[in-house]
Amino acid sequence: MSQSAVEVREVVKRFGDNVVVNGVSLDILTGEFFTMLGPSGSGKTTLLRMIAGFEAPDAGSIFLQGEDVTARPAHLRPVNTVFQDYALFPHMDVVANVEYGLRVRKVARKERRERAQRALDMVQLKGLESRRPAQLSGGQRQRVALARAIVNEPAVLLLDEPLGALDLKLRQEMQVELKAIQRRVGITFIYVTHDQEEAMAMSDRIAIMNGGVIEQIGAPRDVYEHPATPFVARFIGTSNILDRGGKRWSLRPERLRLSLVDAPPTGDDRAPGQIQDVVYLGMMTRYIVHLDSGADLVVVRTNEGSDALSARHAPGDRVMVSWHERDAVVMDHALI
Ligand code: ADP
Ligand code: MG
Repeated sequence: MSQSAVEVREVVKRFGDNVVVNGVSLDILTGEFFTMLGPSGSGKTTLLRMIAGFEAPDAGSIFLQGEDVTARPAHLRPVNTVFQDYALFPHMDVVANVEYGLRVRKVARKERRERAQRALDMVQLKGLESRRPAQLSGGQRQRVALARAIVNEPAVLLLDEPLGALDLKLRQEMQVELKAIQRRVGITFIYVTHDQEEAMAMSDRIAIMNGGVIEQIGAPRDVYEHPATPFVARFIGTSNILDRGGKRWSLRPERLRLSLVDAPPTGDDRAPGQIQDVVYLGMMTRYIVHLDSGADLVVVRTNEGSDALSARHAPGDRVMVSWHERDAVVMDHALI
């Protein structure tokens, strides 16, 4: 059985009257890529800073590798943090930046060199050892920051929106790489982001934070397929929230089918309505359907070559929206 790398128990943090982390509990496994996902201000950074030891909780406790570290200062915890702004030393070359932590800890020169070299290999920066940060691209600087953190061989690496400063394409490349690096080094990663696509692409599990509480924890597929709350349903992808039969349901736009009202529908469950809007998006077409019951539904259909449906519906058309029963997810009332 693998031991927990990090346990957060009933942690509370206030700034003045503002409760920014409100009774959070988490259990992160050794070797896991764990992401805290939530909008700006939801308390992600504060929670990460408490795990790192830069902030003290007002209540609750934090365990690292089974030991209570709640009262232990940051430098005595087996964690390292990678920040968005890299914080590299501009006057030092790449190797010196990576070795810095080892030098401070008086690790012998030979071992320092070897470990720095290994870390640089790991992040694929071989050959750039003698460059200064100013001579590197944003993605390369981010890799140096990463190498500098993993060279210390922490049990847990904390990453606070580390790709936030990169443009979209590079960010997507780095997502794939970061995940590969994490697998290679086998260190537990706790990753903070407000970008749901990034969280989905990289994580073993995701904790979705909202207003200082965790609304749901699960694998990317779980939280997408079975959102526990309307907030999660809307924050992870797009969802339709529909009240039917005294319950509140989440319906993903790509699980909905459209047919003409008098044609047989292809799903188990159905609702008649009228096409309000058709938006052609290249890979797919998005329809807004105003149901007779009053709700608006978003429906997306991929534009596959043979799919005549996508070309058939126009604003004003009467349609039947249908879906398979299993694709309608009832939301947990206790959490709404
Ligand atoms: P996130 O990282 O999810 O954007 P933060 O943890 O940074 O959220 O912030 C959560 C809330 O706590 C915000 O409302 C923020 O303004 C507040 N906050 C964070 N740090 C401090 C601080 N040092 N003093 C006062 N308020 C703070
Ligand atoms: Mg933050």
